Amino acid sequence: MARILSTLDPDTLTQACDALRRGEPVAVPTETVYGLAADATHPGAITAIYEAKGRPRFNPLISHVSDIDMARAHVRFSPLAEKLARAFWPGALTLVLPLEPSGAIHPLATAGLATAAVRMPQGFARELIATFGRPLAAPSANRSGRVSPTSAEHVAEDLGERIGLILDGGRCPIGVESTIVAVEDGRLRLLRPGGIAAEAIEEIAGLAVERQQPQPGEAVIAPGMLTSHYAPQAAVRLNAADVRPGEALIRFGEAPVAGEDRAHAVFNLSPAGDLREAAANLFDFLKRADASGASAIAVAPVPAHGLGEAINDRLERAAAPRP
Ligand code: AMP
Ligand code: MG
Repeated sequence: MARILSTLDPDTLTQACDALRRGEPVAVPTETVYGLAADATHPGAITAIYEAKGRPRFNPLISHVSDIDMARAHVRFSPLAEKLARAFWPGALTLVLPLEPSGAIHPLATAGLATAAVRMPQGFARELIATFGRPLAAPSANRSGRVSPTSAEHVAEDLGERIGLILDGGRCPIGVESTIVAVEDGRLRLLRPGGIAAEAIEEIAGLAVERQQPQPGEAVIAPGMLTSHYAPQAAVRLNAADVRPGEALIRFGEAPVAGEDRAHAVFNLSPAGDLREAAANLFDFLKRADASGASAIAVAPVPAHGLGEAINDRLERAAAPRP
């Protein structure tokens, strides 16, 4: 079973760096979700991430940096990319940028693409990267296809038998993964909605964020192409206007849902109708609805603007037919 160390313990940073230097993946809290982090320049360390997660190797990883200079050593920033990094870093925006030929992010982390996804996280994760001195590749710290973890307990339940060290920093404040944007010749393409609303990116860029999906056969693999993802065990039924016998209900806002008094369990993402609060609760409530023993999980509609775009994206994937 993995050791769990608090990020408040002064010795944790050293212990985590030691494990990373040995090429071992470490579960690390970030403001989005918990990541399973390892040295992005070290092929053995990256392989250990894919193995612990059971993740398909064609699905590239995000490399996390502690400052823009560290990012610049590995990827090339256009003026537009620079503007976005300055506005949103540290924070929940991942930029997909061309690789710098002299960079050291290993091709296993980029799935051999000519681009890399980079992000500067906030708080403890950033401090860890600065101390370690190299970028950390870190996908969410869950088995591939499962619901992402927003607490150290979630990580322990899912990966506790497969990894050696989990750093406990409490609950993740944002609760959904980063927004991923490809920056290409003055264009912005949304590869995954996430913790920063696309509208906020458009405002800074002064440019529309294009939302069309990658074409079939296109080399770039976004999570959008892995249709079933973030999946609980129970079936998920979206746009529920009522609750059917045996179902748990996840809903949003004040308005009650028909038949909710006979629901197996009820979880309100945000009684006050706040999409940020809803995002922070989403994965925890999916896990709890699943653990309630309900036959299925009914989900009432959630608004689609702002963080609602990311919430609806994750819900659609949770509800998609399983492979
Ligand atoms: P995560 O699972 O949170 O680590 O997110 C990783 C996702 O980032 C992958 O599933 C890809 O969709 C995306 N990604 C990473 N690198 C690239 C890249 N070079 N080009 C396009 N998307 C990428
Ligand atoms: Mg993930």
